[in-house]
Amino acid sequence: MKLAEGMQRIGVEHAFDVLVRARALEAQGRSVIHLEIGEPDFPTPQHIVDAAKRALDEGWTHYGPTLGDPQLRAAIAVEVSRTRGVEVGPQHIAVVPGAKPILFFSMMALLEPGDEVIVPNPEFPIYESMVRYLGATPVAMPLEESRGFSVDLDRFRASLGGRTKMVVLNSPHNPTGGVIPRADMEAIAALLRERDVIVLTDEVYCNIHYGTEPPASIVQFPGMLEKTIILDGFSKTYAMTGWRMGYGVMPEWLVTAVGKLMVNSNSCTASFTQRAGIAALEGPQDSVGIMVAELRRRRDAFCAGLNQVPGFRCALPGGAFYAFANVTGTGMKSSELADFLLSEGGVACLDGATFGQYGDGYIRFSYANSLANLLEAVERIKKLAAGWARA
Ligand code: PLP
Repeated sequence: MKLAEGMQRIGVEHAFDVLVRARALEAQGRSVIHLEIGEPDFPTPQHIVDAAKRALDEGWTHYGPTLGDPQLRAAIAVEVSRTRGVEVGPQHIAVVPGAKPILFFSMMALLEPGDEVIVPNPEFPIYESMVRYLGATPVAMPLEESRGFSVDLDRFRASLGGRTKMVVLNSPHNPTGGVIPRADMEAIAALLRERDVIVLTDEVYCNIHYGTEPPASIVQFPGMLEKTIILDGFSKTYAMTGWRMGYGVMPEWLVTAVGKLMVNSNSCTASFTQRAGIAALEGPQDSVGIMVAELRRRRDAFCAGLNQVPGFRCALPGGAFYAFANVTGTGMKSSELADFLLSEGGVACLDGATFGQYGDGYIRFSYANSLANLLEAVERIKKLAAGWARA
């Protein structure tokens, strides 16, 4: 039996492959420090777990509305209106099992062969995978270290054309940790305002930032809300990656389309987890502040450590929990180096090139791990560096 033709164009997430390799080494008795997977190592806050347990006892164990629990949709609308400074209502919200399905469903609802989609490069690999799967064409928007991994506005302007149907933004950014400055975001909005394009802004890391101001969202600029899909969820902010719950905020006509795709695939998101989602949004938020303060401490120590490794250069990321180290000074290819760090040093990390061609020469480390493990990882890398520093 032959797979459908589209399967040749669909990609994967390399992080899961590296995780399998790392686990295989551990099964052989090797010690591995996991800096490959992008998920908070913090537990889900207790009051959220308790809300889920209560919901199970109360019988929230059946199908629910396709687009989400009405109370959760209302709570999300309040949260998004408050944090982005715009007016959205429950009718603009689609609750789905994780943030990822918003990518899948909104692209599926909008893209056709011949359409072009501007995607950051390096990028969260699912963007390009989905664009290609649907027969549309990704157009790379390079994010360069010299600009703090923000957008080159001239290149961005030049890449907009008659076929551009969608622009994907992701700030704070995976894999670089870069945050698009407000002025750049405003300039992007000005370039898109009069165009017939839709923006997909992936804001799953919006609460994990280290600046004084929250990262700018493109919806804050005039005329953009009506042509934007915000992708957000619970995975990163509340350490709920395994709960599979996320949401999209979008114009109503698109919510209807996403609802049709949901009813054809999932029917609905799990009912009891959505009750916990209400508790997450409406309950105490101190766990988020505590997590971000701890991540900042780790970021500072880990990046300082990486900068002491011969051949490494690591800018301080403004958000998310990834350090994107430039390793060109080692003289090794980033793919070889990432393999070497895992096989010889037991440090699992990701080759930047797996996030796109502009990630070549970099390695992504997730610092969502204990400070002790991060410092141990730096020591292991320094030991190995003696080899390439001599070469
Ligand atoms: N978007 C980005 C940029 C991510 O890094 C991730 C997860 O790593 C997701 C979306 C997916 O989030 P979820 O696990 O809620 O589907």
